[in-house]
Amino acid sequence: MESLKLAARELEKANELLLLGHMMPDGDCLGSMLALGQALRAKGKKVEWAVPDPVPSNLAFLPGAAEVKVGPQAVKGAKPDLIVVLDTSTPERLGDLRRPFDELRRSGAKAMLIDHHVTAIPFADHNFIFPEAAAVGEVVFELLREMSLFPLTPDIATCLYTAIVTDTGCFQYETTLASTHRRVAELIEVGVKVREVSLRLFEEKPREQIVALREALKTLRFSPCGRLAWMWLDRETMVANGILGEHTNGLVNYARQIRGVELALFFWEVKKDLVKVSFRSKCHLDVNRLAGLFGGGGHIRAAGALIPGRLEDVVARVVAAGLEALGREGIYNSDRGA
Ligand code: 5GP
Ligand code: MN
Repeated sequence: MESLKLAARELEKANELLLLGHMMPDGDCLGSMLALGQALRAKGKKVEWAVPDPVPSNLAFLPGAAEVKVGPQAVKGAKPDLIVVLDTSTPERLGDLRRPFDELRRSGAKAMLIDHHVTAIPFADHNFIFPEAAAVGEVVFELLREMSLFPLTPDIATCLYTAIVTDTGCFQYETTLASTHRRVAELIEVGVKVREVSLRLFEEKPREQIVALREALKTLRFSPCGRLAWMWLDRETMVANGILGEHTNGLVNYARQIRGVELALFFWEVKKDLVKVSFRSKCHLDVNRLAGLFGGGGHIRAAGALIPGRLEDVVARVVAAGLEALGREGIYNSDRGA
């Protein structure tokens, strides 16, 4: 791909790089950042990593994760000539890192965006956006090939494997192509320990995550048509049970996996009057568009938004918009009750 050549050239020109990721960083974000950064270090470049929120405990096993700094303080004193922002579709998603990002650019640093969201805003100086990629990890994989950094080390391969396995929902989403499996096959060939990674990611969940599921399931609601299901966690329940934001990851899938449900929503109260919403659809509805109505975005089948307002009000507004979207699309639920 021509643009990958350009990206490779820009990366090769830089000597000191700062790699940034999004709020509530996930497997694709951290895996891509760590893979790219470690590969650039192997080329003799100075590389630092920063994210606005802590690394979730289930991703702490990623090679290099301990070096990822958290919050705006972490960026103080950095003098990168290139800032690379990964998996981050809008500057707002940089959270508390947005201000230092802007300041570094004002003092001369160039910025590069590497992303795969359909609605990504090209907010950097160099923007490499591949909406057809299942994960930014796939883009980084090709970028490293372009930069003649193959064969990859087992550490870098583990980071890329994590990025791809998480963003494809374990290869279940329609973004998963034959080329995805081919890349993953190459990663396994260079030494990814698939079972070990799977255990860390999916079978060693912190207890709070399962307690979060228990509490969320108590709130499970359905629209009369059965096409929309939603759940929520309020602050009080989260605090009482030690549930953090990272423990809510994936809860929305329990609502989506119910027969007949096309649209699943999950709400949690980040703080008073601020609600994080996860949108998921099964086969038809464009949730990127739906989330867009509330200032959010993401992908066609998975999107998110941070919505100001009281939890009950946000739930009511988003559920109403969800029903309207389902109605507009004329999505008929033939499976109901089957
Ligand atoms: P999740 O619901 O797992 O947090 O996010 C699902 C998808 O939506 C991810 O691709 C993520 O990048 C995107 N996303 C999540 N929250 C937001 C948000 O507040 N704004 C935007 N634009 N995208 C989001
Ligand atoms: Mn991603």
